[in-house]
Amino acid sequence: MKIILLGPPGAGKGTQARKIVENYNVVHLSTGDMLRQAVREGTELGKTAKGYMESGQLVPDELVIGIIKERLDQPDCKNGYILDGFPRTIHQAEALNKIEKIDIVIFIDVPFEELVHRLAGRWSCPKCGAVYNLKYTPPNKKVQGNWICDSCMNILVQRDDDQELVVRNRIKTYQNQSEPLIKYYRTKNLLQDINGTGSIDIIASDISKALDRLN
Ligand code: AMP
Repeated sequence: MKIILLGPPGAGKGTQARKIVENYNVVHLSTGDMLRQAVREGTELGKTAKGYMESGQLVPDELVIGIIKERLDQPDCKNGYILDGFPRTIHQAEALNKIEKIDIVIFIDVPFEELVHRLAGRWSCPKCGAVYNLKYTPPNKKVQGNWICDSCMNILVQRDDDQELVVRNRIKTYQNQSEPLIKYYRTKNLLQDINGTGSIDIIASDISKALDRLN
C-alpha cells in the first residue's frame, strides 16, 4: 500500500505514521526526519537545509524531490510506504505522480490555534523517540529543570523549530504552499478526510478503517 499522510505541522502525522507501520506492512518515510539527520551529520544537503528549517520555510523542491526519489528506489519500499511530510507543494506532488501510483491520501485536519498549542508544547526523547506534550500528555518527572522521559529516563528536548514564532511561520508556510494539495488530491479522488482533534487511538482507528476499505 502506498500512502500519503497530509496535514498541517502538529496534526500528529508522525504519531499516526508510527501506528500505521505497526499494523500494516509499510515503511515510514519522513522527509523532516531525513533532513534533520542530514543537518546533524553536517552533509552538504544538511548545510543547505538548516537555514530554511530553522525559520519555518520549506527546503527547495529539487533537494527534497532528490532525496525522496533516492529513498523510494530502496528495496524496502517495494511492499509499500507511508509518506509523512512529502509532498508539501504541488510541484513535489507532480514529481511524485510521475514516478509512483499512490493508493490513498489521508488528510488529518486540525484547527490553527490548536496546532500552535500542540507544537509549542511538544517535547521528545532523543533516545527512544517518545513524544510528550506539556499541556496534554506531560511526562511524570522534572529533575533540575529538565523534563525526563517516562520510558527510558533520558532528558527530553524541544525541536528548534517548535519555538512559538517558528511554529506560526511553519503553519503559514503550510497554508500558503501545502493546503492546495488538499484540492489537488481531492480532484484525483484519492483524499480521505480524518478529524484530527480526537484522541490518538480514535484517530488511528479512523485511519485504519479508511485503509481497510482499500483492501
Ligand atoms: P516536519 O518534520 O515534517 O515538520 O519538517 C520539518 C521541516 O523540514 C519543515 O519545516 C521544512 O523546513 C523541512 N521539510 C520537511 N519536508 C519537506 C518537504 N517535503 N519539502 C520542503 N521542506 C520540507
